[in-house]
Amino acid sequence: MAQAGIAGLRVVVTAGAAGIGRDIAERFLDGGAKVHLCDLDAPALEATAAELQPAGTTLADVCDPQAVARLFREAEASLGGLDVLVNNAGIAGPTAAVEDIELEDWRRTLDVNVTGQFLCIRQAVPLLRAAGGGCIVNLASAAGLRGYPLRTPYVASKWAVVGLTQSLAMELGPDGIRVNALCPGPVEGERIDRVIAAKAAARGISEAEMRAELTRDISLRSFVTARDIADMALYLAGPSGARISGQALSIDGNIEVLR
Ligand code: NAD
Repeated sequence: MAQAGIAGLRVVVTAGAAGIGRDIAERFLDGGAKVHLCDLDAPALEATAAELQPAGTTLADVCDPQAVARLFREAEASLGGLDVLVNNAGIAGPTAAVEDIELEDWRRTLDVNVTGQFLCIRQAVPLLRAAGGGCIVNLASAAGLRGYPLRTPYVASKWAVVGLTQSLAMELGPDGIRVNALCPGPVEGERIDRVIAAKAAARGISEAEMRAELTRDISLRSFVTARDIADMALYLAGPSGARISGQALSIDGNIEVLR
């Protein structure tokens, strides 16, 4: 069922060729929004565009300032303006004891997960102001609200996303721009399978044990779906979210602890 009040919204989704971003794009399109997607994976972006038929796409790495500037020029042309930015691009980063983490891996994780969001917001804000207000949805994580050993670059980056969100909600609120963060728990899919495999290896336990432990630490005893995350993004972007800003919203089945 289409979410009310989404039709006609002009939406940019970063990293929209796969995973959560793809589901978010699909849900917005189903609701009658106009969507422009970016991704750094050219074949995946092409395949997703062929299936979803968004208004436009841009091949871009969100860490590259020139590519991000091009993304927003192209989005403005394909959408005719901007009402919603979904800052979805993010990587898991390394899983290792802190003394074994390479500086390059630390930097790349912070670069994609934090600087990438900053670069997109910097381009989006003038367009959102020109539209008379709008909505920014930043993908954080359950790991942006609590500690998570062996994943320090990821955790540091997602706590930064929550701080960025709260600060921008204050800075941009007077212009009618709402800024919120989504904090998903483990999302069923390929990426969480990779995360579980890496964590199991780092802790010297089996993948089945790691998955079972992770499930036990969630009150509802199940992972969430990309669709759950997309539903929350639509809720925030539509009229239902009109008075919601500065929040870090958990969609995680109530994670009790991350270990
Ligand atoms: P994913 O690993 O499935 O990747 C989705 C897309 O991101 C891919 O198409 C990839 O090419 C693209 N991408 C990666 N780096 C990029 C970059 N620098 N520029 C542009 N595109 C890039 O990701 P996902 O699991 O869908 O995660 C989406 C967001 O949700 C991330 O910010 C992630 O941290 C967050 N998140 C995910 C989970 C989970 O369990 N999957 C949990 C909590 C938070």
